[in-house]
Amino acid sequence: MKDMKTVPAEERLGKVDYSNYSDWDTYPRSVYECPFCQKGLSLSFKDFEKHSLSEFTNLSEDMAHKIDNLVSTLDKGTANSFLDFQCQGCHRPVRIYYTAWAGGRHGEAGFQINFIIENKV
Ligand SMILES: [Zn+2]
Repeated sequence: MKDMKTVPAEERLGKVDYSNYSDWDTYPRSVYECPFCQKGLSLSFKDFEKHSLSEFTNLSEDMAHKIDNLVSTLDKGTANSFLDFQCQGCHRPVRIYYTAWAGGRHGEAGFQINFIIENKV
């Protein structure tokens, strides 16, 4: 899978931490800007909530399979969720790995975005 690479979330997203204590469902947003075509995709708490702890993919079966193969060799750290999509500009697949967490009796929950898988070619 030499055509795919892993990028730390901080390199692409201005916001990588979400909490239901401090963030609304749809605001503030993380904007992923495609490094190849500069098309932006805006994500917010509800997007990460929808995909948390889910195996659902937005990609084609073939593309999802390629990415699954790549990440099977990676140390995903604490990441337990992913959200993927095809860039609306250049149609390259992108997968964002993140950690869904919940903090004890006060009902705090949130997401930490860990890293992003991009297609280089
Ligand atoms: Zn693109």
